[in-house]
Amino acid sequence: MIETITLTIGKQKNIALIAHDGKKAELVDWCKKNVEILKKHNLCGTGTTAKMITDATGLTVKGYNSGPLGGDQQIGAKICEGMVDFVIFLSDPLTAAPHDPDVKALMRIAQVYDIPFANNKTTADFLLQSSLMDMEYDREVINFQKHISNRASKLL
Ligand code: PGA
Repeated sequence: MIETITLTIGKQKNIALIAHDGKKAELVDWCKKNVEILKKHNLCGTGTTAKMITDATGLTVKGYNSGPLGGDQQIGAKICEGMVDFVIFLSDPLTAAPHDPDVKALMRIAQVYDIPFANNKTTADFLLQSSLMDMEYDREVINFQKHISNRASKLL
């Protein structure tokens, strides 16, 4: 049986906001509508998305690199470090992106770490209206330290 550890998503969420080009206007509009809720949380995003949201709403959104230049991977790394625990990612299902592997990697790592992840506006609305937004939430994640020790001792 895989051992797990409990990681807590605090009342104040660490939210990453990302939108592909065809979805940026939709995400900016969604952020404008939800500014009162979003301002209670820590926000970050890929470079262009973060800047557009800040310009349109005045919200502080820490910007990482632009998505095609590694921004999705940076946010994925922050999920691994426990610094991002909530993602709104309006990806564009109708346009091919050069950084599709990075997008898939981000989705996968969000799944591994069992964090809320919205990939369309309706899911984002349901997440933001959840009563869990104002509560702590415990999630179970593989105990990676234990996992590493077990693997290291078995693979020689
Ligand atoms: P951007 O990156 O916010 O810098 O445009 C988002 C993306 O395309 O993944």
